[in-house]
Amino acid sequence: MISQVRPDGTLRHLITLEGLSRELIERLLERSQGFVRPLGARRPDSDSLAGFTVANLFTEPSTRTRVSFELAAKRLGADVVNLEVQLSSRVKGESMLDTVFTLQALHVDAMVIRDAEAGVTAAVAASVATHVSVLSAGEAHVSHPTQGLLDALTVRQHKERFDNLSIAIVGDIRHSRVARSDYHAFRTLGCPDLRIVAPPALMPAAEEFAGCSRHNSLRTGLKDVDVVIMLRIQKERMGQADLPDADRYFAKYGLTPERLTGARPDAIVMHPQPMNRGIEISSDVADGPQSVIRDQVRNGVAVRMAVLEEVLTGADTE
Ligand code: ASP
Repeated sequence: MISQVRPDGTLRHLITLEGLSRELIERLLERSQGFVRPLGARRPDSDSLAGFTVANLFTEPSTRTRVSFELAAKRLGADVVNLEVQLSSRVKGESMLDTVFTLQALHVDAMVIRDAEAGVTAAVAASVATHVSVLSAGEAHVSHPTQGLLDALTVRQHKERFDNLSIAIVGDIRHSRVARSDYHAFRTLGCPDLRIVAPPALMPAAEEFAGCSRHNSLRTGLKDVDVVIMLRIQKERMGQADLPDADRYFAKYGLTPERLTGARPDAIVMHPQPMNRGIEISSDVADGPQSVIRDQVRNGVAVRMAVLEEVLTGADTE
């Protein structure tokens, strides 16, 4: 794995949160917080990325992540190009590199990549010129680092500190890149009680999520937690035979207002979206007073502004 951090400590690529220091993550959160503004407020007067070009290369569908990366780059004055690359998975790695070298020749400075195949983002990062940064916008089931950061920012806004928190991540952990990036973020930030809650078939391998307690029951998993993160069932990463029955899943693992009473009364509820209402979460909870799901979306733009600014302007100091 190539280094994501420059010798001066600034971030050059963002492929995974695994291995990033607490100091760097906290700095990115602080920087992100500076970009958060109330709905309706005018965008900050910043052209810090004027003269840079950002390319979004997405080979898997995306709504929030792609739009927020685009808005983040534009709000700081960068030029943006969006490419939806349709490639057969067999030749994907190689064809992706051809695309990457084309973009590099077109003076693209940052490439934001979402891909269903593990390892492609790191392979691109290892191949680009030294002035180019590569950011993951979601890699297979492996990593979604800006989602991990925006989830951490959301928790920080509501709970202020991490070292006294109980956080439950609930649902299809096995196939979730969000769960993995959240795990790295919250562990690094010092969360002492991190729980994963899932049916046995959706639990990750035993060697993953070290230090988390594992719960097959929503009741024990949610007991007295401060934060509940619900996940979507990743149908696209399962065979037909592995798909849980929606009604049975909701009956056992769906988050309803009654079940949420097992968490602390001031617990917040999060979901990276898209949500399957009535499967992993009821609308009463998703739209209810404890939900901070829309804050997550707003924070996504702020985090992506901070990350883009860090990787692109840090390069000046090389
Ligand atoms: N939007 C998130 C992702 O890309 C979560 C999801 O799709 O369930 O991983």
